[in-house]
Amino acid sequence: NERRKNNIIIVVLMDIVLLIGAWFVYRNVRNEIKLAQIKSDFVSNVSHEIKTPLALINMYSETLEMGRITTDEKKIEYYKTINKEARRLSRMVDKILSFSKIENGKREYIFSQTDINEIVERVISTYQHHFKNSNFICEFNLAEDLPLINIDEEAIIDVLNNLIDNAIKYSDNTKLIEINTGIKATRVYVEVKDSGIGIKEKDQALIFDKFYRVTHGHLAHHAKGSGIGLNIVKHIIDSHNGEIEVQSSYGHGSSFTLFFQSPLKS
Ligand code: ADP
Repeated sequence: NERRKNNIIIVVLMDIVLLIGAWFVYRNVRNEIKLAQIKSDFVSNVSHEIKTPLALINMYSETLEMGRITTDEKKIEYYKTINKEARRLSRMVDKILSFSKIENGKREYIFSQTDINEIVERVISTYQHHFKNSNFICEFNLAEDLPLINIDEEAIIDVLNNLIDNAIKYSDNTKLIEINTGIKATRVYVEVKDSGIGIKEKDQALIFDKFYRVTHGHLAHHAKGSGIGLNIVKHIIDSHNGEIEVQSSYGHGSSFTLFFQSPLKS
């Protein structure tokens, strides 16, 4: 009787070990499949983003080469489009390189005491032309006498570019973007606010994950993207010991606020 009892216990224990093992194998296979799917989606999204400007550059340059464009005005328009698409392409490549550097832990930061308003103004000036052409209203509210903050200029320019690109991309009919700077409880902040499609609460915690993209909703589904922009933003802000706050109302717009440590004492 004693031996039978022991045998039953051993068999039950072995079954439990087997079941745990099977569960681990299942979990690993499931994660591998998910990762393969994410990688394939990323490659397809990036290829899609690269394909459009390439096709346009090809088409416009071929038309010019064939001498089909006779007026100087039209030629200038074509050159401008080629230039614009080439810049778009190069930004996309820069974004991927920046992501890869961050992933490999190779991105280095050069910190210096900086006037954040000056950086914001510099970034905004590169968008003015686009805002005008795409009928965007952009309002700025830059607080005066902000203390200097310790940041890597290039990295923060990357962050602002990503946030403004998203604000443009995910704005539907109301094309209004607000950029504010100021001080809240001794921390200097920069806010990029849009009146676009907004982000559902359940997605708000996930949008900073690498490759995560929201695909529901008409505009979100059709907007091109790679799902790495906000991941880059998060890495850079973390490296600055800063914080990002997202406030969004689905269908009404989103606001991304970056908080930086300032020399002010509380
Ligand atoms: P993507 O290349 O897809 O834009 P991001 O990492 O920049 O990648 O953003 C991740 C997701 O967060 C986007 O797919 C989008 O659904 C959502 N998102 C980011 N910014 C905004 C915004 N300003 N308004 C609405 N949705 C946004």
